[in-house]
Amino acid sequence: MRCLLCGKRTGSSSMPLVAMFSDDPLCYDCRKLWKPYTGNRDIEGMHTDILYDYRSGYSSALIQYKECGDEALKDIFLYPHIEKIRWKYRGYTLLLMPSAKDKLRQRGFDHLKEMFACLNMPMMSPFEKLREIDQKGGGRSRRTVMSGNIILKEGTVLPEKILLADDVVTTGSTLRGALKCIDTRKHRIMILCVGGV
Ligand SMILES: [Zn+2]
Repeated sequence: MRCLLCGKRTGSSSMPLVAMFSDDPLCYDCRKLWKPYTGNRDIEGMHTDILYDYRSGYSSALIQYKECGDEALKDIFLYPHIEKIRWKYRGYTLLLMPSAKDKLRQRGFDHLKEMFACLNMPMMSPFEKLREIDQKGGGRSRRTVMSGNIILKEGTVLPEKILLADDVVTTGSTLRGALKCIDTRKHRIMILCVGGV
């Protein structure tokens, strides 16, 4: 098997035995450039589970996937964490953060959906991102609902156990916007981001 990032054979002799026998789509050398996130982040008082430090190898792979449209990379992001995540969040439904519609069209694939599909967990994309101009068009009450520039799609029924999921958390404004769309008294909510700064 060849590494999806550098093209090197994934079973070279310089690797530890455990890496030689794994099905990781990345070689050992590429994988070790992805540093685990060591900070402690909470959003609106809610602990946020973050897998990788964005400023490590993770960011260049994410850019290649998202901005250069390298769809083949979809499984490399969560591969080492699949079992752990499935166990920790059993019974939860993934709620994916919204992408700008023009970006989605440009890319030709839903990068978040494909990234999280390897978990085989129930998944929804219930949020919509509004353009700045739409937000300005609303009255005061409408603006309150659209905090963070995000709304819940009409007619959405949310499950009881919610796992908000995104590829990277920076300021946290998207997640805060999504949280404002959810009645936090009626749902159990957790947050998972693949990368964080
Ligand atoms: Zn590699």
